[in-house]
This record gives sequence, structure tokens and C-alpha cells, in this order.
Amino acid sequence: MFSGPPYRFLCGGSLLSLLDGPIPWIGGDHMILVVRTPLALEGLPAFGQQGLLVIELDLQPLVGQALQLTGLVFLAGLVPLFLTGAALVLVVRRQLLPELISLAQTDSLSGVLNRGAFLEAAAQRLELRGLEQPWVVALIDIDHFKTINDTYGHAAGDEVIRRMAEFLNGALRRGDLVGRLGGDEFALLVSAAAPQAHELLERLRQRVATHRWTLADGREPQLTLSIGMVEQGSEGRHQLGELLQAADAALYVAKDQGRNQVMDLERLHPRGWSVQPA
Ligand code: GH3
Ligand code: MG
Repeated sequence: MFSGPPYRFLCGGSLLSLLDGPIPWIGGDHMILVVRTPLALEGLPAFGQQGLLVIELDLQPLVGQALQLTGLVFLAGLVPLFLTGAALVLVVRRQLLPELISLAQTDSLSGVLNRGAFLEAAAQRLELRGLEQPWVVALIDIDHFKTINDTYGHAAGDEVIRRMAEFLNGALRRGDLVGRLGGDEFALLVSAAAPQAHELLERLRQRVATHRWTLADGREPQLTLSIGMVEQGSEGRHQLGELLQAADAALYVAKDQGRNQVMDLERLHPRGWSVQPA
């Protein structure tokens, strides 16, 4: 017997009730349910007798709803994932990236710019503002640093490099650059003409020579600096590489003439200088 969807029909017999029929999504959209039921309940004049009630359910509307619900749950699950991803991108961009860049640019011992970062930053400034204002490139080298290592130990030598970097960093003005090129050698880019830069460097040299450098263990090494400097004229003729070579030549003369002094290449070659390719 059938009675409109959901389809129901009854048949006599004594089978157990069971769940049967095609499985939704795999075998079709209909489900057939077979249950034992008293025939009287179905309005048949057969009191005390039981039949099988077969119910066929059309699952199509339910499948549609289930799909909709699954889609919603899936999208809702994506929201926290998306928010977490966006937060992560923000943290990386705002915090981690600048920290990583700063770490890559910093000399791990001294805390000032490392060689590569100094060369890049200095070249950029000379290129951008080389014509607007005069610049001075200076090379600074600690005198007899090897003796400090030999006398006080390598760890004390490291402390001297660290303290000297702090000192140089504190002595410069805004817009100037300091970097450690390696070993006991530092480089400065000073935004000033030669006379002012010479004055600044000379003051710096004197302060280092007269400062009481007390190490962590209480010992007090005597420190002095030799400095070579060269001015990039406002015409901006020289590349950073040439200026560093020229400052190195001036530093060599400062060492040669007894150390603990500032040597300006312009004073050695008042009519101008040029750098020979290596
Ligand atoms: P000068 O007056 O001619 O500059 O002599 P100097 O002894 O300072 O120069 P030299 O180039 O002979 O020696 C530099 C020494 O610096 C040699 C090297 O072992 C030492 N050195 C290089 N890097 C480091 C470092 O990171 N830490 C320490 N403690 N020593 C270093
Ligand atoms: Mg030295």
C-alpha cells in the first residue's frame, strides 16, 4: 500500500523491522524504512495482526539543507584561520621583519652597523645627498690593539671593541653613520665639511686618549686612536670606494707618523688627490 510521499505501504508477514534502501549521496536520495506495525493502527480491520510498514523517504530536501549547513560550518571554520593568518602576517611585517633586518645589519660584537650595512647606507647617502652638502669619510683604528689582546686577553679585547663602538656611536650627531669594518677598525660618515669634521674627530681622539677605560675586571688599558679622513667635496666627484681608499691612505700616514692623531688627506695633498685603481 502506498500513501503519497513519504511513501508508505504495508504488507503482511512477520519480518523484523529493519533499515533499508539506498544510502544518501552514494546510492541515491531516497531511504526506505521497514518497521513492524499493528495493522489496526493503519486503520485496517485486522486487530491483533501485524504487518510490515514500508516508509520511503525522499531525502533530496534534507541533502540540500545538509550541504548548506556543511558549507556554513566550513566557512565559519575558515574565519579564525583567516584571522590567525592575517595576525601572523601583521606580526611578521611590523615586528619580526624589522628585527630580522636590524639583526642582519648589526655587527654582533659591537652593536654598530656591520661592514656590509655601513657600505650600503653610506653609498646611499652619498648618492642621494652627495651634491647637497659636504661629507667626510673617516677610518678609525685602535692603536696597538694586538698588544691589548696579548696583555689583557681576547675577552678584554672584545670588551674594548664594544666600549669603543658605544663611545663612537655616542659621539656622533644625528645623520652621521658609524660601522665596524672588521677587527679594530671603524668607519664614519660625517655630514660636515672637512674643518668641522676634523674638529669633531680631533675632539674624539683626545677624549679617547684621556678617558679612563676601566674594564669589567678593574684593569685600565691605555687606548688611543689613529684616524684618517677625507672630504667628499660638494661637487660629489668620488664614489664611496674611492673615499675609503683615500681615508685608508690618510690612516696609514697617521700610523706612520706616530699614531694617536687625525690625518686629513687634503692636508697632505692640498692640490687634490686621486685614487689609482688596484
Ligand atoms: P696598529 O696600531 O698598527 O693598528 O696595530 P694593531 O695591533 O692595532 O693592529 P693589528 O692589525 O696588528 O692587530 C689587530 C688585532 O686585532 C689582530 C687580531 O687578532 C685582533 N682582532 C681582530 N678582530 C678581533 C676581535 O673581534 N676581537 C678581539 N679581541 N681581537 C680581534
Ligand atoms: Mg689597530
